[in-house]
Amino acid sequence: MLNLLKLRRKHGHQAIPDLRSAVLMESHRGFPVIDERKFEGDRQTLVNACPTGAIRKDPVSVDLGKCIFCGECERMSGGAIRFTNGHKLGASGRTQLMVTSSLSYEGFRDCSIRARAEIHRLFGRSLKLRQVSAGGCNGCEMELAACGNVNFDMGRFGIDFVASPRHADGIVLTGPVTRNMAPALMDAYRSISEPKIVIAVGACAISGGVFGGSDETNRGFLDEVKVDLFVPGCPPHPLTIINAVLDFIGKK
Ligand code: SF4
Ligand code: SF4
Repeated sequence: MLNLLKLRRKHGHQAIPDLRSAVLMESHRGFPVIDERKFEGDRQTLVNACPTGAIRKDPVSVDLGKCIFCGECERMSGGAIRFTNGHKLGASGRTQLMVTSSLSYEGFRDCSIRARAEIHRLFGRSLKLRQVSAGGCNGCEMELAACGNVNFDMGRFGIDFVASPRHADGIVLTGPVTRNMAPALMDAYRSISEPKIVIAVGACAISGGVFGGSDETNRGFLDEVKVDLFVPGCPPHPLTIINAVLDFIGKK
């Protein structure tokens, strides 16, 4: 017993104390900054090089909901597209994920998440989520699992994953929604009582990602159901996920 207590003392507190102000390393690819003046050459080449069709030209924009943060556009554009380490990329609307040259990270953060007072009131102190992997590669799923580990400890905010949709306040969707997972996803959603929320995590869930347009997907769920929170990435960092959820439920 004494040895156990000594060990606990030695380990100390492993949880990151302030998740809200934690900063990721410089090499982390987060919010992209676009400088139209630096573009040289054919923009269509850049558009064609993007594996997920996330880039549009005239004006150049990057769709964070499609981007897999591969960095190819940064390498090809000669600095006209540059990824910063800004990791708070969650948004409560799909259109807010379109980044143009006029949008700074601070500007994006100011308007990206508009949570309703009702959401704050209902889920601000406790949010139970059921995760549904609808054909994901397990990357997003691993980062979601990491949200609950001793470092990130999302449970300290009253946010937990539960085994049954009957016990949940909402669904966290990962993956592009394969045809065989589409009915199970809808079943899980319908099993959750109202009021409920839907969170789409990762490029696959938001747009199909690298599987966008595949015949093996069935994204009808996304047409029928309103997504309340989008968390871009491939996969998103745990701090991206946790900060997005905290902003959404109104936690300081
Ligand atoms: S980093 Fe994103 S926008 Fe750029 S090429 Fe890769 S997927 Fe496309
Ligand atoms: S978004 Fe990327 S990491 Fe997440 S499930 Fe899709 S391919 Fe995997």
